[in-house]
Amino acid sequence: MSDFVVVANRLPVDRVVGPEGEVGWRRSPGGLVTAITPLMRERDGAWIGWTGAADEEAESFTEDGLRLVPVPLSADDVELYYEGFSNATLWPLYHDAIVPPEFHRTAWDAYVRVNRRFAEKAAEVADKGALVWVQDYQLQLVPKMLRELRPDVRIGFFLHIPFPPGELFFRLPWRKEIVEGLLGADLVGFQLPAAAANFVRLSRRLLDVRVHGSMVHVDGRDVLAEAFPISVDVDELTDLIHRPDVRARAAQVRKELGDPACILLGVDRLDYTKGITQRLEAFGELLADGAFKPGEAVFVQVATPSRERVEQYQILRDDIELQVGRINGEFGQLGNPVINYMHTSYAREELAALYLAADVMVVTPLRDGMNLVAKEYVACHEDLRGALVLSEFAGAAEELRRAYLVNPYDVDGLKRILLEAVRADSRDLQKRMRAMRRRVVDNDVARWASEFLARLRSSTPSHDQ
Ligand code: UDP
Repeated sequence: MSDFVVVANRLPVDRVVGPEGEVGWRRSPGGLVTAITPLMRERDGAWIGWTGAADEEAESFTEDGLRLVPVPLSADDVELYYEGFSNATLWPLYHDAIVPPEFHRTAWDAYVRVNRRFAEKAAEVADKGALVWVQDYQLQLVPKMLRELRPDVRIGFFLHIPFPPGELFFRLPWRKEIVEGLLGADLVGFQLPAAAANFVRLSRRLLDVRVHGSMVHVDGRDVLAEAFPISVDVDELTDLIHRPDVRARAAQVRKELGDPACILLGVDRLDYTKGITQRLEAFGELLADGAFKPGEAVFVQVATPSRERVEQYQILRDDIELQVGRINGEFGQLGNPVINYMHTSYAREELAALYLAADVMVVTPLRDGMNLVAKEYVACHEDLRGALVLSEFAGAAEELRRAYLVNPYDVDGLKRILLEAVRADSRDLQKRMRAMRRRVVDNDVARWASEFLARLRSSTPSHDQ
């Protein structure tokens, strides 16, 4: 039994297979894991989640001092709950319906079934009065299901992605069930205050509840809905950029790219929310206009493989690769493409080197809950060098007001801002970076986690209400 339980779609480890075929686990990189791990160690915590492989039955195990409790998913569950309802219904619906969300009843049934499995596992593992922290859009029904099983535990939920406006959310045939699911928690956290306020408003419109500020009164309980903007592991990144091998790699990257006057960098999962085609279009036009000269400005785009079995992701990959090919075909020279495109996932060391090498970081999502890449770039620029071009539609734009903010749908505006960022003088860049760093360094991911948990602990236990 544990008195601190994290429930997330994935366990914080990746499977690795050794040279003899032996299976082992390696801690997956990521701020959430780093922020929560020390708290879990302190409190004898457990992390409940899926291993990432279908049809795998695994017992609880301990890895790197963390107690991990697997929840099995069948191939059918993966297709319907994960690829289906989570990533073809909720993901696009919660991201402005950039691609049309699909509504399939079989996928919903699987979502309910799998959420129940997670809730049952949490009920089994949680000690009396434990804190249970449920993560993200794949598990929105868990708070209510868990409360029914275990009214004694205190439940927090955090949504890492945007919460959509009513016009979109109301399309969902199961909108009431989702809101009721979330209201099973004592504290529901969002990235932005507007999302929390929106959730409170929608709760009142959909259900017979009273609201008071950020508080929803439901079934004789008070549920708080508030914003907790997530952040990055500043200490980890600072350690990385001080490492001689990482600094040497950054210098080598610049050299390998032909020592151009300006390196522009994009780092994203290959996802239609990230605005990759918009930014490449703007870059291509700037080359066509003669504002950027091949060899002087080089774009590096890392596009990490993601959700490759979902059709919209396959279409997007083809579109981007066609676009990269066209622009390179037109403006590149032998051995010197204007866009260096990598469809791969990089280790933290390599990313830190890329952030260090980049003169302009281009982050242009059409919609993004937060966008950690933007904050990581800022965290890596202790030297106060570099410009951040940032979409107004990324959650991070609320805090990083001194970035070069842009509407990624406006190609001319994007071109203008890219030029401005490339041509900015170093004193202006330093001022901007200093202001942005204050924000990121003071509010790192450890602080995010401890503030959420402190708020959860201070909420009135439901059984006392
Ligand atoms: N990332 C990584 N390797 C890569 C590309 C990205 O480790 O090759 C990390 C990146 O450093 C960041 C995270 O993946 O921490 C992406 O988070 P973000 O909020 O920017 O976007 P998401 O993928 O969650 O939508």
